[in-house]
Amino acid sequence: MKTKILVLLSLFSFSALAIDHEMEALVRSDLANMPVTEKVTLTNLVSEDSFDGEFFKIVKGKSQDAVKFSEEKHLTFRAATAYYHLMKARSFFVDVVKSEYVKNIPKMTIRIEHSNQFSELGHFAHDNLEPQFNNALTIPAGKGLESRGVQPWGMEIWFRPSKKINIKDLRVNNLQQQEFQVLLSQFRDQIRMQSLQRFLSNIAVAYTNNDYQGPSPFSQESLIRTVGSTLIIEAGYLLMDPLTKMLSRKWYWLDTAMIPEIIYHEYSHAALSDALVLSHSTAVIEGMADFFAGQIADSPKLATRIKKYNTYNGKNAKRKQDYMIQFEMQDYANTDFVFGMLWEMKKVVGDKQGLDFMYSLRKNITTNSGIRNELIEGILNTCDEMCEMPFNDKIRILKALNLKGL
Ligand SMILES: [Zn+2]
Repeated sequence: MKTKILVLLSLFSFSALAIDHEMEALVRSDLANMPVTEKVTLTNLVSEDSFDGEFFKIVKGKSQDAVKFSEEKHLTFRAATAYYHLMKARSFFVDVVKSEYVKNIPKMTIRIEHSNQFSELGHFAHDNLEPQFNNALTIPAGKGLESRGVQPWGMEIWFRPSKKINIKDLRVNNLQQQEFQVLLSQFRDQIRMQSLQRFLSNIAVAYTNNDYQGPSPFSQESLIRTVGSTLIIEAGYLLMDPLTKMLSRKWYWLDTAMIPEIIYHEYSHAALSDALVLSHSTAVIEGMADFFAGQIADSPKLATRIKKYNTYNGKNAKRKQDYMIQFEMQDYANTDFVFGMLWEMKKVVGDKQGLDFMYSLRKNITTNSGIRNELIEGILNTCDEMCEMPFNDKIRILKALNLKGL
């Protein structure tokens, strides 16, 4: 009886807190999966007039105050889109995956239009230190630095401002004067393992500095994960309207707070962070985040693309790839090989239990896991725990991996 009253009470206080608000956001259309502007309901808000919710608070840049509904459209449209898709990603992990960890993640601060680099000690690096554009990242919680007045912070997701860069303005060695299509196909064919997003943000850095000297002008931040491996971003990207415009006008940019797949990818990093710590980018941590981003997106069109174009086993992939030792290394860490591999593994263990399997897998690997050793071992250990017939299923898994040179 006592519990009943408590439950009723807590339900009451919950509903008294949760405010809904209707607003325009960018979503994917059901069939074609194209971006469309739609009126959506933002749920679980705790404020009548700002993007302050029970689970997420959307702020601009370094601010601690939630973006107000009354602010300029450029800001509110991005805030609404990020909030809406973050809520979708969270309920995927809480309601579908049934993750206790995600259910208990404290309210997260989400920064949009935020260009400061991340500093482990200071939270934000100095404003003058190489501002960041066209990417997104999830940062781990920090203790702060009392002597410098830096408050402790929780896990946060940062979306960078987009920055349009015309190909003509690039001062990039051998890339100079090249058409976007050539660049993109060069990226696809030769830099396959790097993320498109990283590629684009490097170009932005190059543009800012005007003294680009090589393929990786990586700031300290790039040691932390920036968003995504090739495929999920590319698949999402190719389904965006702006791409067509971009191709014809030779402009580059990535408005990360507006791309659902990127929002899901970043939130997946947060959701998996009980096992996969947010320290740096590796093939395994990016592949896992992409896998869940693809599951949250739950679009047949996207799934078809992933199936067709993934380099692990896609029919239409320009360059299908067997395992190479380079995939384990830092510069190649964003390979979509792991993503394709996990996507395939879900089918091998059975679509029905595949999702639980992949979520449990995180416990049997770490951010530093290599593909050939720890990831495979993790998959086999997870199968011991979860497969209906571990002996037979492990043989099937090993057979599938073997075909890819693993
Ligand atoms: Zn990532």
